[in-house]
Amino acid sequence: MNPQQYIQLEETFGAHNYKPLDVVLSRGRGIWVYDVEGNKYMDCLSAYSAVNQGHCHPKIVKTMIEQAQKLTLTSRAFRNDQLGPFYKELCELTRSHKVLPMNSGAEAVETVIKAIRKWGYKVKGIPRDRAEIIVCENNFHGRTIAIIGFSTEAQYRDGFGPYPAGFNIVPFGDAAAVEAAITPHTVGVLLEPIQGEAGVIIPPPGYLKDVKAICEKNDIVLILDEIQTGLGRTGKLFAEEHEGIEADVTVIGKALSGGFYPISAVLSNKEVLGVFMPGDHGSTFGGNPLACAVARTALKVLIQENMIENAQKMGDYFLSQLKNVHSPFIKEIRGKGLLIGVELVPEAGGARGFCERLKAKGLLCKETHENVIRFAPPLVITKAQIDWAMERIESVLKER
Ligand SMILES: *Cc1c(COP(=O)(O)O)cnc(C)c1O
Repeated sequence: MNPQQYIQLEETFGAHNYKPLDVVLSRGRGIWVYDVEGNKYMDCLSAYSAVNQGHCHPKIVKTMIEQAQKLTLTSRAFRNDQLGPFYKELCELTRSHKVLPMNSGAEAVETVIKAIRKWGYKVKGIPRDRAEIIVCENNFHGRTIAIIGFSTEAQYRDGFGPYPAGFNIVPFGDAAAVEAAITPHTVGVLLEPIQGEAGVIIPPPGYLKDVKAICEKNDIVLILDEIQTGLGRTGKLFAEEHEGIEADVTVIGKALSGGFYPISAVLSNKEVLGVFMPGDHGSTFGGNPLACAVARTALKVLIQENMIENAQKMGDYFLSQLKNVHSPFIKEIRGKGLLIGVELVPEAGGARGFCERLKAKGLLCKETHENVIRFAPPLVITKAQIDWAMERIESVLKER
């Protein structure tokens, strides 16, 4: 089949809830992917940071095949020999006390909402059904009903209500606004350390530290959604480390399996997860041995192959190279590690066109919102490969 035929099948039989670039991929290795005609592209999106370890990392492939031949799913009705070791390794790596594994990022966020609400009722003594959670404007935490209910993005919400109550929205980057929104019923503050989907929005220095102090003072839980920023993306294991803080609860997903298999997790430093009793929460696939085995290897290669340090170094280099580009289309360049956003001026005609032109030159990235191009290649990228990317990016930002 040719690319047009694959696209036609998707358009005919699939719901149209995405608008992908028209490139039909069939193979990947490291930072490179190949389409059905054999054309090669550099992947500068990494499946929204799920493929931090690079496509089809050979060690993760090996684990996946071996585990798939042994045992894939027991459900949590029984125990399996991957879950305990996965918990221990993950807790040691992240200095957490407890883990609750789920499948998607949104499910893990939902899990946190349940956990801190129950924590609020059982531990803080908040009156029944009155718990409040503070969230930020322009947040992205997933696509379930509860989560889109506190989105400020009209398209994410419109037409899908009614929504659960109990969320207060404050501006991102403004610690005083968090403090002002606290009531006797507040149980937690949920935010992204850097807002990825909103266009790589980096809060002012000291913000996370201030919010953490406010949470401590008021005995409420700080939850960081590190699904996109975590596991090396910003040049640290977690983005919170840039501010020298530790969240009470951290949510991870995406790169936890190196892009092989859906797995997410809630990590808790306080005893928030301790409120769950048998039967309170669950998932048929959550904590399955295949996901756990894959995640154990995905974490191992992230550390052993120094991908986090590389993200820091290559991110600094990429950012400095981008800042050398003088183009009338660029409004602002932002980034931490290998999570980089190039915001274009409105007159540039939208980021989508630039992504289309980059695709034609062999570089895949995706617009986020109208005017931001996000560059987030796998963390294994080299300096020479960034130079290769920069040639194409520079020419696209200068032509028109
Ligand atoms: C991707 C993402 C999610 C949702 O994860 P899914 O696996 O798509 O449900 C939540 N929060 C952030 C910050 C994300 O980037």
